[in-house]
Amino acid sequence: MPPPADVPDEPRRLAILGATGSIGTQTLDIVRLFPDAFEVEVLSGHRNAERLIAQARAFEPTHVVVTDDAAYVTVRDALAGTAIQVTYGQDGLCEAAALPTVDVVVAAVVGAAGMRSVLAALEAGKTVALANKEALVVAGHLVEAALAAHGGTLIPVDSEHSAIFQCLQGEPPAAVERLILTASGGPFRMRPRHTFADIKPEEALNHPNWSMGAKITIDSATLMNKGLEVMEARWLFGVGPDAIDVVVHPQSIIHSMVTFHDGSTKAQLGVPDMKVPIQYALTYPERWEAPHERLDWGQVAGLDFEPPDREAFGCLPLAYEALRLGGVAPAVLNAANEVAVARFLAGTLRFTEIPEVIGYALKTITGPAQPSLENLIERDSMARRVAQEHQPRRVPLTNC
Ligand code: NDP
Ligand code: MG
Repeated sequence: MPPPADVPDEPRRLAILGATGSIGTQTLDIVRLFPDAFEVEVLSGHRNAERLIAQARAFEPTHVVVTDDAAYVTVRDALAGTAIQVTYGQDGLCEAAALPTVDVVVAAVVGAAGMRSVLAALEAGKTVALANKEALVVAGHLVEAALAAHGGTLIPVDSEHSAIFQCLQGEPPAAVERLILTASGGPFRMRPRHTFADIKPEEALNHPNWSMGAKITIDSATLMNKGLEVMEARWLFGVGPDAIDVVVHPQSIIHSMVTFHDGSTKAQLGVPDMKVPIQYALTYPERWEAPHERLDWGQVAGLDFEPPDREAFGCLPLAYEALRLGGVAPAVLNAANEVAVARFLAGTLRFTEIPEVIGYALKTITGPAQPSLENLIERDSMARRVAQEHQPRRVPLTNC
């Protein structure tokens, strides 16, 4: 396939943080599609040393960052004798995100662990292709301040936010009335609510439409992912919680919508494939020709919509509550959720206890209305402790 006419003469130099994960590996797939258009400067990983070493050998970045102690030693030793500089930890991530040789930072670390490097990239005035929604959930006001002070750019990777971003192109911001985030509804949309306490991790990891990392897959099953995305949309598009709706759309073909003041609604559609929004974030404002699967309209049997069940999926109303509370509440909600998901995956918390643990942390931990980064990091740690220790009162499982 000939290179697209609009591929730039100078390659865009990428720092891919979280390169070993689902978004990270798909970003590298895009780089493989356009080898002359991108240069990989930085790769990072946490525990998956083997994959990171293989990626480093294939893409020859100048820097590799490892955040897990044991994996760091393995990667450093494996890459000794090459020109690649191997650095360690959160400080390593922040330094790599701000390197003068980096044009675009792909923020694809999972969880609040991605927050500091997003801030560091924006403080260095970089363009950030943002998958790590937790950075905005936890520290939206600090991200906003860093953007305003240092002239960086934030481009969404999350499919719903990429859809909204695409719908907003060429539209006056004041004309926006509502944002409508679509949700697949996850694997338990049709499951009787009284059986939710029996849900096993392997059932929750089986998403009907998307193949993603474990944490976001569980978040999709609880609808916390949609709650986090409401918060992400608030900061990306400057729209308050009362103007952001969630609608369940099981086919995941409409990726999200915007309604304007004149009553018109725009939507962005496509097959559920994260490579499309990843590529758009890397090539924006251009669109480069690529062989991603197209929608086959003859095979689209229907587009269905229904309201989310806020009683069965208690994480969604909790996220709206945290967003309305503001201050440290979103950081507390996010940290408690990360711990609750890990406990559920480890088999020590029931599916139905996830919102209970998060609600308990939200009630227990308060803080300043305009928290500093230190305040947020401190409340994050407190919320993790509370969520780890809280044991909800159990009712026996029913067999009916
Ligand atoms: P994965 O779990 O697949 O990958 C996460 C990445 O982060 C891996 O590279 C992992 O390293 C690294 N990582 C894990 N823990 C830490 C840590 N403590 N410090 C530094 N790095 C760490 O996640 P996804 O790719 O699915 O998701 C990444 C982000 O993108 C999340 O915020 C998610 O919400 C968002 N997102 C994901 C989508 C998807 O389709 N997957 C869609 C939309 C948004 P290692 O594997 O080496 O341990
Ligand atoms: Mg999404």
